[in-house]
Amino acid sequence: MAVKKRESLEDYVDRLFDLWFDRLPVGTYRITASWTDREKRETNGRLGEVAMDVSSDYRYQQASIQIYAPTVRTMTDERIEEAVVHELLHVALCPMAHGEREDEEEVVVTLMARSFCKAYAPTKRK
Ligand SMILES: [Zn+2]
Repeated sequence: MAVKKRESLEDYVDRLFDLWFDRLPVGTYRITASWTDREKRETNGRLGEVAMDVSSDYRYQQASIQIYAPTVRTMTDERIEEAVVHELLHVALCPMAHGEREDEEEVVVTLMARSFCKAYAPTKRK
């Protein structure tokens, strides 16, 4: 009897990025995502490990997202989806981003990501 293999974490995250790339206003961006086995801790007194982070340049409509595998492996599907939406919203808002407004941007992006994830049915891992 053939055993159906579960979708890999990498394939699931790729699928989430494709799905939310179409849903969010980031379609003009060239976005690359890469995985690392490194861990990254939050700084500035923030809590916990970093799952993903992004650097974007709206002038060239480019962004690159770093995915920290050890942290993502510990997360539920729902939290992973929220993290993907969170990072893509950073890309969408990057023309407004200025270093000194970093905390305000985090709040806006976090609340928007949670709202968007609530508005759609969760994307389950196959
Ligand atoms: Zn963020």
